[in-house]
Amino acid sequence: MPGRKFADGEVVMGRWPGSVLYYEVQVASYDDASHLYTVKYKDGTELALKESDIRSLSSFRHRKSQSSSSSPSRRSSSRSRSRSPGRPAKGRRRSSSQSREHKDDRKKTIQETNVALLKLSENNTQSYNGEPDSTERNDTSCIILEQKSKPELEIQRVLEQYSLRPRKEEKKKEEIYSEKKIFETRKTIEKATPKTKELEFGGRIGTFVMIFFLPATVFYLLLMCKQDDASLLNFPPPLPALESLWEARVFGVFLLWFFLQALFYLLPIGKVVEGLPLSNGRKLQYRINGFYAFLLTAAVIGTLLYFQFELHYLYDHFMQFAVSAAVFSVALSIYLYIRSLKAPEEELAPGGNSGYFVYDFFTGHELNPRIGSFDLKYFCELRPGLIGWVVINLAMLLAEMKIHNQSVPSLSMILVNSFQLLYVVDALWNEEAVLTTMDITHDGFGFMLAFGDLVWVPFVYSLQALYLVGHPTAISWPVAAAITTLNCIGYYIFRSANSQKNNFRRNPADPKLACKCISLFAQLLYSVSLCYLNTHFNCGTDYNTLFTDLKFIPTATGKGLLVTGWWGFVRHPNYLGDIIMALAWSLPCGFNHILPYFYVIYFICLLVHREARDEHHCKQKYGLAWEKYCQRVPYRIFPYIY
Ligand code: NDP
Repeated sequence: MPGRKFADGEVVMGRWPGSVLYYEVQVASYDDASHLYTVKYKDGTELALKESDIRSLSSFRHRKSQSSSSSPSRRSSSRSRSRSPGRPAKGRRRSSSQSREHKDDRKKTIQETNVALLKLSENNTQSYNGEPDSTERNDTSCIILEQKSKPELEIQRVLEQYSLRPRKEEKKKEEIYSEKKIFETRKTIEKATPKTKELEFGGRIGTFVMIFFLPATVFYLLLMCKQDDASLLNFPPPLPALESLWEARVFGVFLLWFFLQALFYLLPIGKVVEGLPLSNGRKLQYRINGFYAFLLTAAVIGTLLYFQFELHYLYDHFMQFAVSAAVFSVALSIYLYIRSLKAPEEELAPGGNSGYFVYDFFTGHELNPRIGSFDLKYFCELRPGLIGWVVINLAMLLAEMKIHNQSVPSLSMILVNSFQLLYVVDALWNEEAVLTTMDITHDGFGFMLAFGDLVWVPFVYSLQALYLVGHPTAISWPVAAAITTLNCIGYYIFRSANSQKNNFRRNPADPKLACKCISLFAQLLYSVSLCYLNTHFNCGTDYNTLFTDLKFIPTATGKGLLVTGWWGFVRHPNYLGDIIMALAWSLPCGFNHILPYFYVIYFICLLVHREARDEHHCKQKYGLAWEKYCQRVPYRIFPYIY
């Protein structure tokens, strides 16, 4: 086979990305275009590797026997050298053999960081002892180039990596930082994004249909919502004349809104943080100022209202605004696709690099399209659409008061506005969390996200408020109190589950992650629900473990998978909370029509599908460890149901 060194089915040693660990793997396939091998690790993980990251078994056995013959005294001298504060100065006078040895030392430190992380985490959090084989059997299934212990330096490096190191140790920071740089530089020689082989969303045909189906659904829902009898069983109303759907002034207002948000995004206020490492090891920087943008927007809207600007202009031209946003999102998607053709291979999205135009156009070809430091995807995710949703809701509230001659908005409208305002403010307050979502790390920026962020979110998520303008629904105070309680429960689960995972990802050794961070309320909620379920379904969940220290399953990547707390309850507790909230947003609209429940129905479908996608990615990432997690936490979203 010209052009490739290893055959399908051959057992070889494959390097674990970002480390110097070599595992026994089997070659599954080879991609001629990207020159990448798909290899399967023993724990089931599949990865695409470059030829240079693969070695034959025989060459490895040779290396291993050489390394095991090295004398202990040599090891200890190497250890003391690398701990010496004068190391950089000495390094300049090294002979070539010494510098080779020094390079090996650097390689070794990378590996040791991973090992140390696991050890440190175990000490602090009493990790679950059912580690995946790959973690437990480092000495057999994985060959480490050199293995020596340097406990102090290891701990310092881990502390640095997880921001645990006390500030007064600044003096040593430079030294550790240079080690970290080596770590990152080594990671930048990672592979280019491999071709997307497993197509999602129904593949080419599915994505082609969605490009037309999604806009059609938005316009159908908006048209139905304006009908007196909004029953979905009715025949759709006749299409409005095309010229009535477009008004240049409305498009101008939309552009003004978009660029005002872009201006707020560019303001040098708020902290700058790094995103997750890209496939080449690089980390992009993001400014976290979404909440400030929200406050500034509130000030602008407040000023407009003060000067008698009629915000219900939005309600009067709602369909035209939706058309403007759709036209803009299509134009943006075309621009994104064209520019992605010139993007370097390594900057393409792992999920949108199939080589099929329609598929890549829909899912997004480029992962993080930027104009200078302006990140288009990150900006669109939480700004114009999400903040726009709240402004639309407010416009509906004012329109309701005006149309029905009310001096105060209805209770239903107040509930819908407040619940959704809380959701948006929460998302902006915790803006940093978006950086770890699959939208940012996996999906490219194409039609799916552009249309989703700019059209679907503001115009479909505000359906309940729009419905209430044309279909006033009176609810009593006790009903309002019951719905509010439901929303609070949903929000509590959603927020604490997301925070638990984000804090754990940021700092696995954080003592706050132990039982103290789970409030009495959550304990009560857990206990009551699990007691009930255990009694009625005879399931033996030990809910006492939910309130002891958080436990996790270590994985071969160095990250852990939580198996207690919310993440030991179901595999996606945050989705559960989100769905409960979605129901609470629809209930104020009463039970006359199913239309205001469109959001909760659609949202369940979205999250079930999203959960399946995430499950697939996690299975690939974590292999056996993920299977163990699934055994330990069998339910995906709804306990004892799904
Ligand atoms: P999640 O926040 O649920 O993240 C999933 C990731 O979490 C996995 O890929 C894995 O990533 C990590 N993970 C999974 N299990 C564990 C575990 N046991 N322990 C530690 N880490 C684990 O995914 P989403 O990005 O889909 O959702 C984020 C939030 O956004 C959710 O609350 C969701 O409800 C909401 N959302 C809202 C939408 C809306 O339109 N309103 C749309 C979509 C989402 P890794 O291991 O790599 O860290």
